[in-house]
Amino acid sequence: MKTEYSEKLFAKANELFPGGVNSPVRAFKGVGGTPRFIARARGSRIWDVDGNQYVDYVGSWGPLILGHCHSAVMQAVQDALREGASFGAPSPREIRLAELVRQRMPWIQKMRFVSSGTEATAAAVRLARGFTGRDDILKFDGCYHGAADALLVKAGSGVETLGLPDSPGVPADVARHTPTLPWNDLAAVVRLFRDRGPSIAAVITEPVVGNMGVLAPNPDFLEGLARVCRQHGALFIVDEVMTGFRVGAGGACGRFGVTPDLVTFGKIIGGGLPVGAFGGRADVMDRIAPAGPVYQAGTLSGNPMAMAAGTATLEQLSAASYAKLEDLSARLAEGLAEGAREAGAAVKVNRVGSMLTVFFSGEPVFDATSARRCDAKCFGRYFHAMLERGIYLPPSQFEAAFVSVAHSVEDVELTIAAAKEAFAEAMKG
Ligand SMILES: *Cc1c(COP(=O)(O)O)cnc(C)c1O
Repeated sequence: MKTEYSEKLFAKANELFPGGVNSPVRAFKGVGGTPRFIARARGSRIWDVDGNQYVDYVGSWGPLILGHCHSAVMQAVQDALREGASFGAPSPREIRLAELVRQRMPWIQKMRFVSSGTEATAAAVRLARGFTGRDDILKFDGCYHGAADALLVKAGSGVETLGLPDSPGVPADVARHTPTLPWNDLAAVVRLFRDRGPSIAAVITEPVVGNMGVLAPNPDFLEGLARVCRQHGALFIVDEVMTGFRVGAGGACGRFGVTPDLVTFGKIIGGGLPVGAFGGRADVMDRIAPAGPVYQAGTLSGNPMAMAAGTATLEQLSAASYAKLEDLSARLAEGLAEGAREAGAAVKVNRVGSMLTVFFSGEPVFDATSARRCDAKCFGRYFHAMLERGIYLPPSQFEAAFVSVAHSVEDVELTIAAAKEAFAEAMKG
């Protein structure tokens, strides 16, 4: 496979951007090698600058549930652009998208649009603190909620309830207010609330984890979190930036039947353009400025092109779309598991809806500790063997692959055939 031009551009990019990229995981650090520079995309396929074609399972990390360049989304964005790229004043497209969101998720009584998932979760955390008058936010080890200070924290071993910053530049005083627990461990949450319940403003979680690879919630976990929050006067924030409109029309809350206080969105809600949103209970949302005292603002919030892309995307997503995604993804997961068995590779394929991860582990993977036990080196070899065969997977063991409505049965069969060889190659070491 020719990669000369990608290599040349990556050398140049390294002189311009730290690590050669504008977001870390794109740099292939988790798998080694040179990232491909992408020239164009359509449907389920992407093409790199050297002319190689791939079946794409990244989908811009989740937003492109309709595949690349869907005609309805392109038309909507072009129409919006023609009328003006941004006004900095209210415009009708914000109302259309908000009504679509509320139709599908009636627990979102009021919402605010922002420009990224990171902004949405940071604002939701500030709002929860402002609403409750408390400072602590409980998050779970391995869950990613964007790159804001308060959420860049995971547990240090042995001091799991003592927040330690994950990155230089995050003050210890900030991290101190983010206690962290193992995901899927409701008993630990109950214990933490017994100890310091009155100081906890909110619990924030990914309802299905995508940012540790795909992890499914235990049957009572999400409902249990909602219950503990209610008992202790804390807010339950469900971070649906990845799962919203992905695992079903009602997102994960709809799929699992849980009632959140606040929800955060990003990715699909912007149809591939930069967008995020947070929303939920009207009495909580009315504490946001200018209705209330908790400040939040954004020059490009509710941007007309982003609103148009999000609206067109949600309008295209029917019950039939989700049935197709479920069916294709199940086929893919089963084919991958079978291919691994044939090659003698110990893997666990975790899947919820159209999110899936092949974990190189013989044991069940259900939290950060069991995910970290996986053989990431073996995943790296598998990743490159797939890339060589024209299958573009997320370049890390700890990320979710996404199936889109644009993927076909042929794409899935091609992927399974490639994986049979890739598993065998990965096992050779
Ligand atoms: C991607 C993601 C974010 C951050 O969204 P950005 O738009 O990248 O800032 C937050 N939470 C979850 C669950 C995500 O998957």
